[in-house]
Amino acid sequence: MKTDKSERLFKEAVEKIPGGVNSPVRAFQAVGKNPRFIERAEKQYIYDVDGNQYVDYIGSWGPMILGHKNEQVQAAVQEAIEKGLSFGAATEIEVEMAKLICDIVPAIEMVRMVNSGTEAVMSAIRVARGYTGRNKVLKFEGCYHGHADAMLVKAGSGVMTSGVPDSAGVPAGCAEDTLTAIYNNLESVEKLFAENKGEVACLIVEPVAANMGVVEPQEGFLQGLRDICTREGALLIFDEVITGFRLQLEGASGYFGVTPDLITYGKIIGGGMPVGAYGGRKDVMQVVSPVGAVYQAGTLSGNPVAMHAGITQLRILKEHPEIYSKINENGEKLRAGLRELIEKYQIPCVVNGIGSLSCMFFTKEPVVDYESAKTSDTVMFGKYFNHMLNRGHYLAPSQFEAIFLSVAHTEEDIRRYLGDVEEFFE
Ligand code: PLP
Repeated sequence: MKTDKSERLFKEAVEKIPGGVNSPVRAFQAVGKNPRFIERAEKQYIYDVDGNQYVDYIGSWGPMILGHKNEQVQAAVQEAIEKGLSFGAATEIEVEMAKLICDIVPAIEMVRMVNSGTEAVMSAIRVARGYTGRNKVLKFEGCYHGHADAMLVKAGSGVMTSGVPDSAGVPAGCAEDTLTAIYNNLESVEKLFAENKGEVACLIVEPVAANMGVVEPQEGFLQGLRDICTREGALLIFDEVITGFRLQLEGASGYFGVTPDLITYGKIIGGGMPVGAYGGRKDVMQVVSPVGAVYQAGTLSGNPVAMHAGITQLRILKEHPEIYSKINENGEKLRAGLRELIEKYQIPCVVNGIGSLSCMFFTKEPVVDYESAKTSDTVMFGKYFNHMLNRGHYLAPSQFEAIFLSVAHTEEDIRRYLGDVEEFFE
C-alpha cells in the first residue's frame, strides 16, 4: 500500500501543528504509525491522499450514521450555503431543530444548541450547578466527556473522594469538585454520595461507555443511578454524544427506558458539521441565560449550515426506522462472527458491544469497567490494527474506541472484515 504522500504531509504537519494533528487520537501514536491523510469519503468508504480505499469503521467518530456524503444532507448544506454562512441571529431552522429533538426524545422539553460535545457537557454541568446550588460533580472512571477542565479527571486505585487532574494545565481547584466512581458499580456511587452528602450537583454518565472501548451498562445500573440521583436531589445527566440517535432514534434514554434530567449531544446532530446540544427538563433549562442566571453563549451556536445538515440527518433517521434494524443487525453479525473466531482459534479476546457499536479487547477478562478494560493487550491491538489497515479496514487507531457501523456498511463488508480477522488469528 503506497503511503508516500501521507508520510510527507505528516512530516510537514508536525512542524506546524502539535503532533501533526488537530485532535490527539488522529495521530495513530497508540498503534505505532503515522496517520493516513484523508482526501474524501463516500458511503462506507474513505480514501486517502495516496489513493487508497478503506472501509471506514470510524465514521468521523460517530456522526456518519447514514454513511458518508449522503445526498440529502449534502443538498441541504448546499442550499443553506446559498443563503449565507452565519447570521449570529435567530433563525427558523433553529426552532425546527429544537422542536424535532423535543418531539423525538421524551426526556427533552427544552434544548440549547452549542458547537461541540465538550461545550455541551461543560454547559450542562454549569446548569446543574446553577440549578442545585451545589458544586460537586460525579463521573465514572474511563468515561470521556470532552476536554473541559472539570471532566479531565481520572480515579486512582479504588474510589477517590476528590479529583486529580488527568492533564497538565488543569488547576487542582478545577478538579477537586469532580468525584470519580466505578462504571457498573452502584456501591461506589452510593459511597461517594454518602461521603459528600448534599454536595453533589449532578452525576454524568455515558449510558453506554464508548471511550474505554465499548462497555455496556449492566442490568439495573442506569436505573440505579436514576434512583440514587432522585433520592439525593442531584441531577442525572446522560452524555449521549455517542449513543444519541444511534442506539435507536430516542437514543439511550429510550433504549434503556431510564429518563435523565439532562442529556448532552454532539456530532451526530450535526450530521458531520460541528454541533453539540444540551437539553432536558424545562424547569432545569429555564435557569439558562437570558431567562435564568446561568450564563452560556456562542457566536456560531445554531449556525444555519450545521442546522440544515443535522436536521436533514435526523429527519431521515426518524422517517426510516429500518436504518436502525440494519445497523444493529450488522453489529450483531459482526460481534457473533468475532466470537465464533475467538472460540475457533482459542484467542484470549472479549467482544463487547450493543447495536452498531462494537469493540474487541485483547484480554480474557470480561470487560465491565475501566480497570478491566485496561487489562487489554494494547501491543496486540496495534498488530491487529495494522493487519486490518493493510487490508483496507480503517479502524479507530486505539484499543479504547468503538467500531462504528453506518447504514452504508453491507453484509459483504462484515464478511470481509471477519475473513481478515481470521487471517490475523491464524
Ligand atoms: N462526550 C462523549 C461521550 C464523547 O464521546 C465525546 C467525544 O467523542 C465528547 C463528549 C466530546 O465531544 P467533542 O469532541 O465534540 O468535543
